[in-house]
Amino acid sequence: MSIFDPKYRDKHVSARIARAFFRISQTTKNMLWDECKLKSLTPAQIQTLLFIRYIRPDSATVNTLAKSLSSTPATASGVLDALQKKSLVMRERKESDRRVVSLSLTYKGANTIQKLEGLGYELQKIIEELIVEEQEVLLSSLSKIERLLREKGYALITETCLTCCYFRPNIHPGAEKPHYCKLFNIDLGEDEIYMECPEYSELEM
Ligand code: SF4
Repeated sequence: MSIFDPKYRDKHVSARIARAFFRISQTTKNMLWDECKLKSLTPAQIQTLLFIRYIRPDSATVNTLAKSLSSTPATASGVLDALQKKSLVMRERKESDRRVVSLSLTYKGANTIQKLEGLGYELQKIIEELIVEEQEVLLSSLSKIERLLREKGYALITETCLTCCYFRPNIHPGAEKPHYCKLFNIDLGEDEIYMECPEYSELEM
């Protein structure tokens, strides 16, 4: 029984899909490596910069980064060491809890992120060769697979508030922070709802 055995795949659609995932993940990783080489950064370093740029600031910690990289905190620290040597990130102990190290980008790190804007565009162009209806079906299925991976502890999936079940949009019209998060019991400003959040959920727990 193996997804790499053609006879087995012939009888199981799920095995054909699993193998397609395997190939797509290898190919996209290679595409990312090629783009990374041009920027003199490794994929893990780029992933870390993107993580710090788009995650909610209170979730920008070494432990959450480790989950996002699917690595240990020690490995994540190694990636951060390399980025710190390049003066791209800063680490600071949180005033509220000295055991927690929070992460932020330096000015140079923020500039580097801006230069990464085209990253992933080649892949997007290929996806755009599917018709809109195919893209919508694919997105729905992939979202479900991402949710299952998260529920089974294989991946940390972060998302913005917009489709989160805890999000209550515009409950204080005209206020500086018009939106509300039911989970954290906090009001949210316009910029905050576009930050990625590790507590994102489509279904209330
Ligand atoms: S839990 Fe949901 S609504 Fe609350 S901050 Fe996170 S993504 Fe936004």
